[in-house]
Amino acid sequence: MAELHKVNLPEDAPYVNAMLLQLLKGIEEVMGTHGLNAVLRLSGLERYVDNPPPNNLEFGVLAREYAALNEAIEQFTGRAGKGMLQRIGRSSFRWGVKEQSAVMGLAGIALKVLPVQLRKRAVLLGVRKGIMDTVNYASIDVQEENGVLVFTDYACVSCHTRHSEQPVCHLYVGSLQEAMTYATGKDFKAFDVLETHCLARGDDFCRFEIRDH
Ligand SMILES: [Zn+2]
Repeated sequence: MAELHKVNLPEDAPYVNAMLLQLLKGIEEVMGTHGLNAVLRLSGLERYVDNPPPNNLEFGVLAREYAALNEAIEQFTGRAGKGMLQRIGRSSFRWGVKEQSAVMGLAGIALKVLPVQLRKRAVLLGVRKGIMDTVNYASIDVQEENGVLVFTDYACVSCHTRHSEQPVCHLYVGSLQEAMTYATGKDFKAFDVLETHCLARGDDFCRFEIRDH
């Protein structure tokens, strides 16, 4: 695989309608419609209240809007924010699998014929392909290092324009947890997903390590 580098996304980088819609669906399932509307207002995105982006692949929204919603959920839920974002990530992923097979990149994978460890890797590669086929600036790498699956996003949208001393892409962690559930049929708690690097912290990428618990 070619060596990947940090992608310098412009502040106003556009993003795909379907991806923001997937996030809104996840927030609504976990926080209810009132909760969704509250975080939309908190993040200055009241234009999406009762008016979600369409479920298509056009670049009709902004990457930093996606990140602003992540931040608003954290502010809204305080200390519970991390767990809440992970739940929303899992919920969004499930909704995407049902309603957005083109975006998710998982439709063509014959999981049943693969051993479990290969299933997990195959699903991560599917997620990578789904994002890379959908978002023209996406740059994602999937590796296996000593039995640890490593998922690295060089143009992460979850934290675009954010700054933090700690990794903040808890939503992404939730999506990867759900990807492991999709791959194995096991509960997400069977896996340990850790964000070791984060663009919001000044790293060159957001990097996630995935282990069996
Ligand atoms: Zn991050």
